[in-house]
Formats: sequence, structure tokens, C-alpha cells
Amino acid sequence: MSYRIRMTELILDCMCEGIAVEPPKIPDNETQRQRAVDRLEILDTGPEDAFDRITRMTAKIMDTPIACVTIVDKDRQWFKSSVGLDVQETNRRISFCGHAINSKSLFIVTNAREDPRFADNPLVTGAPKIAFYIGVPVMSSDGYAVGTLCAISDTPKDPSDDQQNLMKDMAKVVEGELHLREQATTDELSGLINRRQFILQAQMELGRAQRSKRPIALLMLDVDKFKEINDALGHAAGDKIISAIGEELPRLFKRPGDSIARLGGDEFIAILSDTDINGATTLGEKTRIKLYDAIRKAAGIDDKQGKNLSVSIGVVVLKPAKTEPEIEDVMKMVDSALYESKHKGRNRVTVRELE
Ligand code: GH3
Ligand code: MG
Repeated sequence: MSYRIRMTELILDCMCEGIAVEPPKIPDNETQRQRAVDRLEILDTGPEDAFDRITRMTAKIMDTPIACVTIVDKDRQWFKSSVGLDVQETNRRISFCGHAINSKSLFIVTNAREDPRFADNPLVTGAPKIAFYIGVPVMSSDGYAVGTLCAISDTPKDPSDDQQNLMKDMAKVVEGELHLREQATTDELSGLINRRQFILQAQMELGRAQRSKRPIALLMLDVDKFKEINDALGHAAGDKIISAIGEELPRLFKRPGDSIARLGGDEFIAILSDTDINGATTLGEKTRIKLYDAIRKAAGIDDKQGKNLSVSIGVVVLKPAKTEPEIEDVMKMVDSALYESKHKGRNRVTVRELE
């Protein structure tokens, strides 16, 4: 059985001001909880089999049309995986999962239409017409409720003890997957290291450059209009582009001490050891041109068809400094150089030099 929410209906519901619903309580540890969510680096990532298997099994076990793995973000609940829903997120204020993360274990609403907390909720009065909800908080490895595993039906339900226990077990499986993510140092799709690992390696390189009084550069790139590429060519073609970039970058930056990472989504970063303003300018331009070709090849289209397939690049060159710079500060600077390339029309390189 499949149950589809009408996208426009839901978005209108979520944007609606002054809805008479009881919004979920913001947890006392919200700041730390949000940090734990951010550390997962999972928001807005693509589908993954491991989570999709869990939601399929959950819907079967609970005999519900809808099951989701959700991450509760600042203002929204975002679905890492779902069956029976075709929206990616809803407003946190009207979310059931926002309530579930505040519970110790199971959060069950047997009939939302008769529950004063939820009877007026637009997800109850409108699509997907929630009547039954069961959610289990999913904890980060350091103990923060980052999201839920939940099942939803448009008919009231009273889950059996077996079903309740299985929900708790399945939520532990979700936690296992998330904890693996927290420990990971590489990104599967691109084969490059991830943000966490990059920060460790790049900070070491900044220290080495400062001690040896050599210049060093940071290069950040982001695919132009990648959302449109995904929409036009499909998510699988988008994935091919990501892995092609993952293959091409190590061919461009191969000095000892160079590290290359996928920061997330369509954003990549590299630290280039012993690279001054001239080297960085040449390498930035070479990267732009090489990736222009690599992306076309990965997408299997010719030059005329793919005129928007390009990358924007920001580069920051650090002259030898008296004190070791903080990698996070340098990343903010290179992000701002990249933003300038985007702002000026994309498919270009912005290089800045810092004393
Ligand atoms: P801009 O030129 O401003 O960068 O536009 P953009 O569309 O590329 O916007 P942005 O960089 O903000 O969006 C990145 C998009 O990349 C969002 C998401 O749809 C897509 N994306 C993120 N991760 C993946 C992935 O692993 N695979 C695929 N195929 N797409 C992804
Ligand atoms: Mg982009």
C-alpha cells in the first residue's frame, strides 16, 4: 500500500502562520543536541540502502503505510529515509517527531484526532491524516536525541507489546548506522576523506607550513547548479559526477601533505602544501578546466548540451605566518572566496592571498 502526500498541500500547511497546535517542547540541551545533529553530517544527504531497509521493515512490522527515519534539525524534521511519503522535510513546529525526541523511549499516539495536543495539527486534519503515530528517539553516540524512527497510519492503532519491542530494536539498528557514520573518516561516494578527517589533517599541515615558513593554500569548490543537474539527469547521474570529481582531484593535487575531502553534498576542499599565489592561481584554473571536462564525461553528454555543467572555485593562499592559523578560520575565508565566484556568475576561480 502506498500513501502519498501532496507536496503543495504540505508546504502550504507548514508555512501557515498561527496554527493552533501544541508545538513540541524544545529540549533543555538543545544547543548540544543541535551540535550532535551537525556532527553527523547527514542532513540533506542522498538516500542510503541501510536506512531504506530499516524503514521498509518498520512499515511491515507496524503494518502502517508510512515509516521514516527522521533527523530533528533546528526548524524542521528531515527524512533520511521514508516509505509512503514523498516530501523530504516538514516544519518542526507541527512535527510529531519533535515530541518523540523528548520522550525516554516510545512515544505513542493511538488516535491523534482525539488527542487535544494533535487534533488541530495540519498533519492530522490534512494529508497524511495522521491518526496513529509511534516514534522512538534515536540517540547519538554521546547521548543526544538526534532524531527518531517512526511509523504512521491514517487509522487509529494500539500496537502490541511485540510491535513496541521491535520498534525499540529497530531504533537501535538506526543508532548503529549513525554511530558508524560518526566514526567514519572517508566518504563512500567520492572515495575521499570526510570533513572531520580533513580538519585533523589540514590543521597538521597548517602547523607544518608555519614551522617551515612555507606558503600553503586551501582550495574549495562547489558544483554549479547541481540541483538542476540532478533534476534534469537524475540522482544516479548526479552521483556519478560526485565520484568522477573524487577520482579527478587526487590527480591534480598529489604533493605529499596535500589532503582532499568531500565536505558534503557537492562541495569539496583541498589543502595544497608549499603552494604560493602563482602556483595556486594556475592550479585553480587547471582544476576548473579539468573538472569541466570530467563532469561532462561522467554525465555522458557533449559540450553543447551541458553548458551549465561547471564548478566554482575559491582559493586562499597563506603566506608564512608567525602563529599557526586555525583551520576553521581559513575554511571560512575560502568559503567566502568561493561565494564570490558563485556571486560573479559561477564557472570561475577567485584567489585571495593573506599575510
Ligand atoms: P549553486 O550553483 O549555487 O551551488 O547551486 P546548486 O544547485 O549546486 O546548490 P547547492 O550547491 O546548494 O546544492 C547542492 C545539491 O546537491 C543539493 C542536493 O540536491 C544535491 N546533492 C547533495 N548530495 C548529493 C549526492 O550525494 N548525490 C546527488 N546526486 N546529489 C546530491
Ligand atoms: Mg552547488
